[in-house]
Amino acid sequence: MNWTKDMQALDRAHHLHPFTDFKALGEEGSRIVTHADGIYIFDSEGHRILDGMAGLWCVNLGYGRQALVDAATRQLQQLPYYNNFFKTTHVPAVTLADTLCRLAPASVNHVFFTGSGSEANDTVLRMVRRYWALEGQPDKQWIIARENAYHGSTVAGMSLGGMAPMHAQGGPLVPGITHIAQPYWFGEGRDQSPEDFGRACAAALEERILELGEENVAAFIAEPVQGAGGAIIPPDSYWPAVKEILARYDILLVVDEVICGFGRLGEWFGSQHYGLEPDLMPIAKGMSSGYLPIGGVMVGDRVADTLIDTGGEFFHGFTYSGHPACAAVALKNLEIMQAAGVVQRVRDDVGPYLAQRWSALADHPLVGEARSLGLIGALELVADKATGARFDKSLGVGNLCRDISFANGLVMRSVGDSMIISPPLTMTRDQIDELVSLARQALDETARHLNVAIHKEQTA
Ligand SMILES: *Cc1c(COP(=O)(O)O)cnc(C)c1O
Repeated sequence: MNWTKDMQALDRAHHLHPFTDFKALGEEGSRIVTHADGIYIFDSEGHRILDGMAGLWCVNLGYGRQALVDAATRQLQQLPYYNNFFKTTHVPAVTLADTLCRLAPASVNHVFFTGSGSEANDTVLRMVRRYWALEGQPDKQWIIARENAYHGSTVAGMSLGGMAPMHAQGGPLVPGITHIAQPYWFGEGRDQSPEDFGRACAAALEERILELGEENVAAFIAEPVQGAGGAIIPPDSYWPAVKEILARYDILLVVDEVICGFGRLGEWFGSQHYGLEPDLMPIAKGMSSGYLPIGGVMVGDRVADTLIDTGGEFFHGFTYSGHPACAAVALKNLEIMQAAGVVQRVRDDVGPYLAQRWSALADHPLVGEARSLGLIGALELVADKATGARFDKSLGVGNLCRDISFANGLVMRSVGDSMIISPPLTMTRDQIDELVSLARQALDETARHLNVAIHKEQTA
């Protein structure tokens, strides 16, 4: 019997995968990833694949880090579990909290631990409303988020998120959340200059605040660069204008750092790249390089002071808030990043190098735009380079390119017809060359397939 086929059969029989058409996957069979090293994953058929997504935007230090394994092992031996409820604490949680606050923007000095980014955003929702209630403004309840944002998969996470297909499943959303336009210039703004479009998207925030009444608006939540929505880098005019509007109406800023945090944009946090002073920052993913699950909400002084001084007990927490082994791994992860200057390297060396190599893909006939910032990037696939017209959705060009890329040895993800990368932050220049050349191969092969498909359509 074939081991891979056996495993696939068991997978099909019992395993419901996240964000997956269960039936379609069952028919195709899943790829079984067996081990990984550095920036490469390996599957059960012996393929070596460059992981251009760092797992799910999280394996920032790459695979095979013995120091992270050792940190987990030591902690599991000494104290595998204890909670932080009921007036107890433990060294990994305390030390991690201290380290995180040293790295965060100056006005952010507290952290509430969770097990994931989704739990972090659930915590955000409760903290924001609790804050305004304690401030004597209980009507400040509305949270303004953005279309096509991703803030997780729990009920609060997906309600804050702006993913229409998610909203369409699973019943009523959390009330009091509203969505405005995203600053996605290539997708939605090409009739204007990027700068004008960025300002228009910020103006949409002000309009919504005025519609709802500023006395009813609690917070605005956004990713610095949208990740799952398609590696969407806002025009430079966007964040300064948003900042100004939030200050004018006294509305809290929640910066979802789950992807942009921990070096992705070349600063410890995306907030620092854009000069933001967040009131709350959900974090997760790169925090532990994905070796163990951990997340949290970093809380700015304004909110923390009120919660601490006047809040009394906050009835909220998770069994695994600040789990000792996860915290120990996160701490070691941050120590390694600091010692190796990973973040500065993204900002000063590999980020600019990727920008130079990646943007060269814009000359490809399928590519309407090639953008990147730090180590996150996207390619916009188009049917007509001159007009930027998209392919017919039914062709599924993004998924086609993703499948080809995977088969050729590179994980790129597709979001519609955008191809996304978010590789480990430890990439060398040579590895970036390899990634870009694999991406070009995938584009070439996709173009060959499409010529055939388009030709068939025309002759049919
Ligand atoms: C992944 C993600 C989340 C959710 O994190 P999970 O750990 O999957 O729950 C939230 N916000 C952003 C920006 C994310 O990318």
